[in-house]
Amino acid sequence: MKVFKFGGASVKDSATVQNMANIIKANQPEQLIVIISAMGKTTNSIEGLLQSALDAEDFSEGLMSLQKFHNNIVKELNLSHDEVLGKEIAEIYEELESQLNSFSSSLGYDYLYDQTVSLGEILSTKIVVTFLNHSGIDCHWMDARKVIKTDSLHRAAKIDWGATQNIIRSNVSQHIEDKVIVSQGFIGSNSNFDTTTLGREGSDFTAAIFGTSIKAESVTIWKDVPGVLNADPKKFENTKRYKQLPFKEAAEMTFYGATVIHPKTIKPLAQMNIPLYVKSFKNPDEPGTLINECTIPDLAPAIIHKDKQTVISFKISDFSFINEHHISLIFENINRLNLTINLMQNSAISFTICMDDNPAKREMLRTALMEEFLIYYNEGLELITVKNYNQKTITDLMKDKEVIIEQRSRNNFQMVYKA
Ligand code: ASP
Repeated sequence: MKVFKFGGASVKDSATVQNMANIIKANQPEQLIVIISAMGKTTNSIEGLLQSALDAEDFSEGLMSLQKFHNNIVKELNLSHDEVLGKEIAEIYEELESQLNSFSSSLGYDYLYDQTVSLGEILSTKIVVTFLNHSGIDCHWMDARKVIKTDSLHRAAKIDWGATQNIIRSNVSQHIEDKVIVSQGFIGSNSNFDTTTLGREGSDFTAAIFGTSIKAESVTIWKDVPGVLNADPKKFENTKRYKQLPFKEAAEMTFYGATVIHPKTIKPLAQMNIPLYVKSFKNPDEPGTLINECTIPDLAPAIIHKDKQTVISFKISDFSFINEHHISLIFENINRLNLTINLMQNSAISFTICMDDNPAKREMLRTALMEEFLIYYNEGLELITVKNYNQKTITDLMKDKEVIIEQRSRNNFQMVYKA
């Protein structure tokens, strides 16, 4: 049994949906679980509608244009005559509209976010399943809200692994014999059956959850890139594709900000030694990248770029030195504010951190620590991490850059510089 995951870009219009169907067809009669995200930029659009509702602005035009987007795909896929699908889509839009209209801050933004944004995945899978069934691929639509059980931390829900794996196993075994199972990425539900979501781009993680629950032979993430590259081709020239990567290496790349795979995806798969393929939906016969338990000598340096970075320095002003008390005070507040440090450095009289730009939390941190330290900060910076670096890569990267912090260990190089 294999798990496939198709993200928003692979179902962004009728042509890509058709292409996805061809990939599934080419893999028949394989027992397949297919996880699908919302179509194209649907998630961003629903976030926008929600913001309008929050600001008490008129969102009807935005809602109509999103519905047009989905209806257009339905039309181009020749599914307009399918009354069941037509009814389902109309009902989902009615629900979306009523949720947006009933927006009240007493329910909490995060709760409403999950109830509305999740509908993007529901719409997408309803359309895809109908199309696959019309194309001769027998499909079962599985509601991820019924099988992925989480806590109630809306927008960043944590998986109840025991319950989820049991429910997935029993549900999958009822349908997988003669049908392709199609389910939604990114969504689940809590013990009250309220919809929850797993965090943006969480569909890769959903694929890993299904994969580990059924002990899949492999999980494949279909992307618009040829595999895992050693740098983002939109930002760097001459990128190289890794043919194979150790789990650990891939997990660390996601930690440093590589966006090709959701950071939570690797760990569950590595624990059960389930291989993960990253392949191109544009060239499905190309090998892509295999991530598994392996050792690869001389891996090409991986360059991971993050923009929108803030550097904050906490300085002692009274001629004493930075000590453990100061550092623990800084960390206590970073932890309290749920901030993530991307890089840190200390000197005799100062401690410096680099984190993602977050002016609101930066201010809270400053207020909490301003009596103890002189605090300086610099926003809008960029961070580059190079894993398995060599001198030439670093020299090339540093050329013409105003570097503010530079750090290297045996395997990793990091620098923060002005954009
Ligand atoms: N649709 C969600 C998002 O855009 C989840 C996903 O695509 O993985 O973040």
